[in-house]
Amino acid sequence: RFITFEGTEGVGKSTQMKNAAATLESLGIDCLVTREPGGTPMAENIRELLLAPREESVHEMTELLLMFAARAQHLHTHILPALDAGKWVLCDRFTDATFAYQGGGRGVSKERISVLETLVQGDVRPDHVILLDAPVETGMARAKKRGELDRFEQEDVDFFQRIRESYLERATAAPGQYHIVNAALPLEQVSASVAALLTALAK
Ligand code: C5P
Repeated sequence: RFITFEGTEGVGKSTQMKNAAATLESLGIDCLVTREPGGTPMAENIRELLLAPREESVHEMTELLLMFAARAQHLHTHILPALDAGKWVLCDRFTDATFAYQGGGRGVSKERISVLETLVQGDVRPDHVILLDAPVETGMARAKKRGELDRFEQEDVDFFQRIRESYLERATAAPGQYHIVNAALPLEQVSASVAALLTALAK
């Protein structure tokens, strides 16, 4: 199974990824835990290019193509071989983040993103997407507390509001594939929901 975790800044994705991996391990399921943009040495280099704050303004098409360049490398050399070997793959962000950030956030049309999605992924899509959803102000405050802000984290509240809305729109359109978890609840409750969800998926 291919399971991705999505959400806006500071919703607790990395904590929940660890929690999810521990749940699967306790069920005896072998899994690969990885992330985007990144996940292979070359894709991590592309991540650094993408996230570094810079003077030059970055065109949204440059950003989009770099996201998919990183994804092509990660998917074909890392994710698909693991799935073929029978592992579960837990990935911190995937193409839903592109629809949300480069689409909703930067304004690239869904049609253009879909063209690249098909080109790079063929018909590969996540089996399940766990969307950690919380008001953007809650998450941004948490992300800021962590220190240095990357290029995306310097955007304003409206940018993240559009991202949250894009995620919710995609999630509500395909309720069998998307699982919305209320990430504004106390951590133990969020962790319990994610663990229950994965246990149900493992049956
Ligand atoms: O999830 P994580 O915080 O590691 O993501 C790193 C940065 O990349 C974040 O600031 C996120 O907003 C940004 N990002 C993006 N578009 C994507 C994936 C991530 O803007 N498709």
